[in-house]
Formats: sequence, structure tokens, C-alpha cells
Amino acid sequence: ATPTALLVGTGRGAQLGILIKGPEVLESTRRVDTVLLDKTGTVTTGRMTLLAVHTADGTDESEVLRLAGALENASEHPIGRAVAAGAGAAERTGALPVPEDFAGIPGLGVRGVVEGHTVLVGREQLLDLPGGATGLPASLKEAKAAAEAAGRTAIAVAWDGEARAVLEVADAVKDTSAEAVRRLRALGLRPVLLTGDNRAVAEAVAREAGIDEVIAEVLPEEKAEVVRRLQAQGRTVAMVGDGVNDAAALAQADLGLAMGTGTDAAIEAADLTLVRGDLRAAADAIRLSRRTLGTIK
Ligand code: ADP
Ligand code: MG
Repeated sequence: ATPTALLVGTGRGAQLGILIKGPEVLESTRRVDTVLLDKTGTVTTGRMTLLAVHTADGTDESEVLRLAGALENASEHPIGRAVAAGAGAAERTGALPVPEDFAGIPGLGVRGVVEGHTVLVGREQLLDLPGGATGLPASLKEAKAAAEAAGRTAIAVAWDGEARAVLEVADAVKDTSAEAVRRLRALGLRPVLLTGDNRAVAEAVAREAGIDEVIAEVLPEEKAEVVRRLQAQGRTVAMVGDGVNDAAALAQADLGLAMGTGTDAAIEAADLTLVRGDLRAAADAIRLSRRTLGTIK
């Protein structure tokens, strides 16, 4: 394609709500055959709600909400926002304390100190880290399995080395996602759901969005590894994501697409931004580049 055709393509992209880093990006878009879709915030709204609290014997629910809510109040993760909002809304907790220490552990959860207690909130695997906590007791393991079978995300809460509760959070599939997946397929592309979340949850979301390939329980640094692996198999890979945890995979992909509603880290790592956070624009972007470069079949 001539430079002029490329620039025209870029201008049309802006009209469609697609921001393209440079005209050369369109060139790499054209051979894409596989589209990895991050789950939370990309295929789903990312607006999670706290639905239930399961406590271990002898643990007070309002204590769980206070400590977990306080810690998550410092997190920007959609799960963190849901837990903090849910805890704040539960009258019994009163105002949430401010954590004395806080650290996000990408793909696993959060860890910090609240009112002198070392608190962990996140995936069950978070409890296994050095300085973590005892495993979930049987009653909480059961609550976790039931939540996940229903397509909800189960989050463990531990403090002072002991697992104390499981929180259930859930998120809705965006109403544009199934249409976006159909459009990607119509372009001959293979959509694959890629997520750090549990397999059962990922499969429930994939079913609803019409995606039949799922790569689940992937740590953030492994997301880029999945991209590399597919590339080594000869695939040309596009990755769509919104989180800090997606940045390395977006950079590794042949084409990185960030949700405009996502984090700055994702937007900076991507070649292209879907301004309105509408996944259908991912298909538009790929169609646009093929058309611009005259490769539409
Ligand atoms: P996704 O790939 O779906 O965007 P992430 O990689 O961000 O998911 O997170 C993977 C998993 O890590 C979540 O499903 C959750 O179990 C856990 N997690 C991450 N951040 C938090 C947090 N702030 N609070 C609780 N759990 C978290
Ligand atoms: Mg995400």
C-alpha cells in the first residue's frame, strides 16, 4: 500500500473510535489469524459486584468485610473495587480503615497490613506464597467450588497466617461481546479467551460470548509466554486487553489492541486503542486494515 492509503486508513480509524499509533501498524494487522481476548474488562464489563461472603467457623463476617474491604480499597483491580464497595455498603463495618501497608501482586491479589493484621485477599494460590497462610478449610473449599461452578470468581481472605473467608464476586459479559466474536469469526479469525481467572469461570464466560477456545489460570507474565508460544507455532497473533497484567502480552503480540477504558499501561503497550472499550471495534480495526491495504478477500 502507498503511504497515502495508510494515512487515509488511519483517519477512518479515528472515525470508528480506533486510535492507531502509526500508519505502519496497519501493515502488521493484515496477517493476523488468532485473536486472544482478555476476560475481565475486555469481554466482560469489569464492573464486578460482591455477591456473597462465606466465613470459616468462628470468623465474624463484619471483620472479614472490614479488613478485606480496607485492603481492596487501595486496589484498582475490578475485584478490588467490588470488594471495597461491597464492604463499604455493608453498614455493620462502619468506615473502612486505611491500610498501613499495601501491595498488589499481579494476577494473584493483594497483600497488606490493616490495623496491625497482615491481610491477604486473592486467588487461593496467594495463600501459598512465603509468609502466606494455611490452606482453605473444607467448608470454604466447598463454597469456592460451588461459586466457580456457577461462573463466579471466588476470592480467598486470610489474615495473620490463617484462611478466614471466601468472597464471591461476579461480572457480566458485555452485551456487545457475542456480536464482536461473531464479527471476528466472520473475518476468518480464531477468538481465544485468555485469563488469569479460574477455568470454570472462564468457560462460563466463553460460553456466553460464543468463544470455544479458553486458556485459563494464566499468570500475568505467562500471558506474553502464551503469545510467544502461538507465534512459534506460526500463528500471527492479535491480543486485546485492558489491564496492567496484559501489557507484556500486548507488546509481544503481532498486534496489540488496548481498551480505551483500560489502564495507561495497556494503552502504552498497545499498537491500537479501542477508544470506547467496545470489542466490536477490534473486528472493525482488522477489517479496516485489510481494506486499506487491499487484502480483503
Ligand atoms: P484477568 O486476566 O481476568 O483480567 P487478573 O490476571 O487481573 O485477571 O487476575 C487473576 C486473578 O487474580 C483474579 O481472578 C483474582 O482471583 C486474583 N486477583 C487479582 N487482583 C485481585 C484483587 N485486587 N483482589 C482479589 N483478587 C485478585
Ligand atoms: Mg483485564
